[in-house]
Amino acid sequence: MSSNENGSANANGNGNGNGNECSAPISLPLKVSSQCSLEKVIPPSPTLQSPAMRRNVSEGNLIAQDVKEARVRVIYTGGTIGMMRNDRNVLAPIPNALVRIIRKYPNIHDEEYAERRFGAGASMAPLVLPYVQGEARRVLYQVTEYTPLLDSSNMTMHDWARIANDIYQSYEFFDGFVVLHGTDTLSYTASALSFMLENLGKTVIITGSQLPIFETRTDGKDNFTSALIIAGNYVIPEVCIFFGNKLLRGNRTVKVSSNSLDAFNSPNVPPLAHIGINVNVDYRLIFRPCSVERFCVHLQLDENVGLLRIFPSISLSTFRAFLAPPMRGVVLQSFGSGNVPSNRKDLIDELKTASERGVIIINCTQCPNGSVAEIYHTGKVLFDVGVIPGYDMTPEAALSKLAYVIGKEEWPLEVKKQMMQSNLRGELTSTAALKMEDYDLVDAVARSLHLSSPQELDQLGATLFPAMINAAVAEGDIKKINNLKAYGADLSGSNHDHRTALHLACQMGNLQIVRHLLHNGVSVHIRDRYDRTPLQEAVSTDNHEIIQLLISCGAHLTGSSRAVGEQLCAAASRGSLRRLQSYQLAGTDLSLSDPSGRTALHVAALHGFEELIHYMLPYMENTDKKDMLGLTAYDYALRGSHASIADLLNPAKKNE
Ligand code: ASP
Repeated sequence: MSSNENGSANANGNGNGNGNECSAPISLPLKVSSQCSLEKVIPPSPTLQSPAMRRNVSEGNLIAQDVKEARVRVIYTGGTIGMMRNDRNVLAPIPNALVRIIRKYPNIHDEEYAERRFGAGASMAPLVLPYVQGEARRVLYQVTEYTPLLDSSNMTMHDWARIANDIYQSYEFFDGFVVLHGTDTLSYTASALSFMLENLGKTVIITGSQLPIFETRTDGKDNFTSALIIAGNYVIPEVCIFFGNKLLRGNRTVKVSSNSLDAFNSPNVPPLAHIGINVNVDYRLIFRPCSVERFCVHLQLDENVGLLRIFPSISLSTFRAFLAPPMRGVVLQSFGSGNVPSNRKDLIDELKTASERGVIIINCTQCPNGSVAEIYHTGKVLFDVGVIPGYDMTPEAALSKLAYVIGKEEWPLEVKKQMMQSNLRGELTSTAALKMEDYDLVDAVARSLHLSSPQELDQLGATLFPAMINAAVAEGDIKKINNLKAYGADLSGSNHDHRTALHLACQMGNLQIVRHLLHNGVSVHIRDRYDRTPLQEAVSTDNHEIIQLLISCGAHLTGSSRAVGEQLCAAASRGSLRRLQSYQLAGTDLSLSDPSGRTALHVAALHGFEELIHYMLPYMENTDKKDMLGLTAYDYALRGSHASIADLLNPAKKNE
């Protein structure tokens, strides 16, 4: 497939084409697959760059404005949502139609705002979601349309890798991602992406519809706009599915209906959010990565995996053929709580032989609800021959997890087996009993206030916990933070200024607490009311260890390049080497200029800060940049009568 942006002419894709004949692991080159049409707002997509080059800052002539904005990338792969009826009255995807048509839909695109923001007639400008009452940010969205558009029944693992790679390549430039997808294999894609996107810190929502978005009666409009609102306004670092007013954990979903508009369910886990009049997110359910590692993508999947559904009287030859090489991983869909006919020694022996050959066999139930458990002899025989329990994983999750785990060539077989039983992305319910003391504390306060309804209790928790966590952070008291967590507090919760405990810990410079919060999955991407991220707090307090820790967790600076240029110039005018180092560690390009075109080098040269010049020179690609007056840093050094600096910057000498 190739892709194009916002309905423009095709750009070259990754060339991963159709993968029907591929049985080897899929490995895609990490390269930029398409050009960003938000380039007025966003710099061109990154390749894997040096930290100094890796930044998320805006370029161009942005108009000053008070409205908070969020940027969402929409990856449109196909599916009913964008289909139209053709001459034969059959639904088929129509290339380049989606963006062209939704530009004319005032309840999906606010043309007036877009014109004010990007200028009239900017046909390639991002789309803008109209103002949504109660939501903090205006959502600007850019659509990448794949070519060809696919019915999801035709999708392969190559397509999963394509989507994962596109998210990876543009990760720093967007606040969230929405994937438009056919519903038939949507749960497989969602499950696979949940594993492939490692240490995910932003919201990824896959959605589609049962009726095309262009029809009068459609669920496509609601699903699409709700997905955009959530992806732009809520940090839910999971791969989710939005469908029929519910946000579901992607790897827990199954398609349950081919005609209801409520087509998806997550049988063993409640919805992460409901959309009614308001968006109600249950933050206690959110699965957060708890390792201090940067977001990355694993594109290598092994296609030699399969689903084997047991049925009464299944023949040995069918069974044997299925388990034969090159098969490397099998989801055995057993009866009830994990049972197979234990009187079929032929089948049990076959499983034992395959397992000894290194095939990973994972036992999942055929029941939509519930888990496999070792409670009957008919299930126990499986454990005895090396079959691994898949607990309450859906077949879709178990299959894509096998493809992912087996594709991890660096993991030995034993580690792979261990990973299949571990909860990697919230896809299975661990058997370790949880000690739920949730809400004891809130209950006590609620009683004294005579509150009792679940809504009142939730509201009270949302009000009390952020304040209490912040108090514990301010005191540097990890034990207290842990106790609050045990009481049901969401450590990622934010106060009325949308600030999290991580903002505070970074501002206070408490490395230990920052590390503790990150290990507990607190997001590095949440922006407060003033658009500041925890990384900005760490830069403002020049805490280099914290900056490095946040960066290793995938944090990056946001904001316009001009604003960052101003900050750099301000630091240079104060002679603050430490602040320049902070920006550099945070991945900022030190050659960014302020609105008058001056860089920190100009300012340091003018003020005679030679130490700063020495520090910056290795990071500056062009030391002869001119400001709006046509002056270079060298000219400033001359005017400031700083001979030794002029000597360092003298273009004639540099060329010698
Ligand atoms: N066959 C379509 C697909 O999966 C169904 C849909 O989108 O609802 O692409």
